[in-house]
Amino acid sequence: MGFKAWVLIKLFVLQFLSFLCSSADFDFFYFVEQWSPSYCDTKQGCCYPITGRPNEDFGIHGLWPEYTTGEWREFCDRENSFNASQISDLIGRMQKDWPSLACPSGDGTIFWRHEWEKHGTCTSLDQHSYFEAALDLKKKANLLQVLENGGITPGKIYNFTTVKEAIQEGVGYRPVIKCNKDPANNTQLYEVYLCADTSAKNFIECPVFSHGIPCGSSIEFPSFSSDSELHVAI
Ligand code: AMP
Ligand code: AMP
Repeated sequence: MGFKAWVLIKLFVLQFLSFLCSSADFDFFYFVEQWSPSYCDTKQGCCYPITGRPNEDFGIHGLWPEYTTGEWREFCDRENSFNASQISDLIGRMQKDWPSLACPSGDGTIFWRHEWEKHGTCTSLDQHSYFEAALDLKKKANLLQVLENGGITPGKIYNFTTVKEAIQEGVGYRPVIKCNKDPANNTQLYEVYLCADTSAKNFIECPVFSHGIPCGSSIEFPSFSSDSELHVAI
């Protein structure tokens, strides 16, 4: 083989390797927000973070890389563990917009670490870009305001389609809505899934829909109740 051909092959291999490293090996993101009062308003209850009760707002659950086949990957890089020092400038926003409600009370680190290691490591983003992208998507979606604009405010029961359409109208894209049950077994709005492109900067229409248990025709949009925090014994 001539020298020229050899150089060309080498160049091609290098280019292919850099393509593999930089390209996102997934098709889109699910951006999942959670209505904090609904996380707490269950038989299991919740524990407020050590910084106190979060705002009555949606909190981020996660930003999950997905395939259009309906599959996804998890825990892609065990070496790339969560490192809070890489997101120190984002902690204030994280505490407000990505609150941990699991028991026992914590500062959020366990939840953020879990989301980074399970889902974030399967993206092509570094830790700072990953968390910042999720925070920016929350700001962009502005779900609480969007619902209020549609006349939907906490503490009442609504028609499922009205809620879904208000989000579609306000965000511009169709959401997937998941529900859970309060202690009296009423269905309540729990999570809103929106889809984003692989840059995690723009919402897109979801290429596939994640199926859950259907919510039913009417859903509660609860407020934090005075006994929402159940301090479950662990
Ligand atoms: P669920 O059963 O929907 O509450 O999901 C439980 C956990 O499984 C979630 O918190 C995710 O970490 C994971 N999971 C469920 N569906 C997906 C999905 N489409 N993509 C990535 N992770 C998922
Ligand atoms: P994934 O598996 O990625 O979503 O995450 C599921 C895990 O995250 C479960 O162990 C849940 O209990 C936990 N989780 C979901 N929402 C919250 C939250 N708001 N605060 C703390 N942990 C949460």
